[in-house]
Amino acid sequence: MPPEEPWTIGRLLAWTAEFFKKKGSDSPRLDAEVMLAHVLGYERVQLYTHYEDVVGERARGEYRDLVRRRSEGTPVAYLVGRKEFYSLRFDVTPAVLIPRPETEFVVMEFLAAVKEIEGPTAIDVGTGSGCIAVACAKHKPGARFAAIDASADALDVARRNAARHAVADRIEFLEGDLLAPLAGRPAVDVIVSNPPYIATAEVEALDPGVRDFEPRLALDGGVDGLDAYRRIAAQAPPLLKSGGRLILEIGFSQDAEVAAIIESTPGLRFSATVRDLQGHPRVVLATRE
Ligand code: GLN
Repeated sequence: MPPEEPWTIGRLLAWTAEFFKKKGSDSPRLDAEVMLAHVLGYERVQLYTHYEDVVGERARGEYRDLVRRRSEGTPVAYLVGRKEFYSLRFDVTPAVLIPRPETEFVVMEFLAAVKEIEGPTAIDVGTGSGCIAVACAKHKPGARFAAIDASADALDVARRNAARHAVADRIEFLEGDLLAPLAGRPAVDVIVSNPPYIATAEVEALDPGVRDFEPRLALDGGVDGLDAYRRIAAQAPPLLKSGGRLILEIGFSQDAEVAAIIESTPGLRFSATVRDLQGHPRVVLATRE
């Protein structure tokens, strides 16, 4: 019998990718790389420059533990405690929704909306990890945000992310239900939100990695999935300056319904729907009259 081959980085990755593939994962190799890089304290590219290095006993133990939890369904972002969004690193915990690439369209629309405004003011409703407010503030110097969430644990994560990206002095974090904590405050230039928009009955049909691990509060949008849009639309007009923008992420089949909610709200006008890279409606834009 030849002696057992050593567990090099290359061999570990190949083994794990095969294991995850058999388990039906969509991204077996990527998951393995992100987790092994995390355990070793490497950037992913360094796995390839150290491909033949043998991984020590202790790192292997830690890695094995992550592989097991991943195979039981925990999303990689929770296992490694971070996720990239808008090319920035965000801390995540199970208290927050994992930032999604679709949500980057909200940031792009914000930046377009405030292009000509110096020092714009804005509100992020349901900030979660803080990804929208932090990415917007980072890319628009002088922008000031109020970021609200119903979860104190989520706000802790969002505060950490604001500090990490040096925008904490321009984001005020508030705990509460949608726009309620801002009642009576001066109007702002823009309100952004990626609210919960899954219909309650459909939550059970979500991918188990989402359904069983991500916060219900961040997903469940009530019986028809539109509760948060109705309530945000109703609360928004007094908090938006005339000509101010409301920028809402939507589920890809909700464009007509959200537009109708906007149109039936006195003081708001539907402006446009923005499509994502797959061509699905992804963001609804409204304007304060
Ligand atoms: N604003 C956060 C995000 O877009 C959280 C959204 C949510 O929890 N529904 O990721």
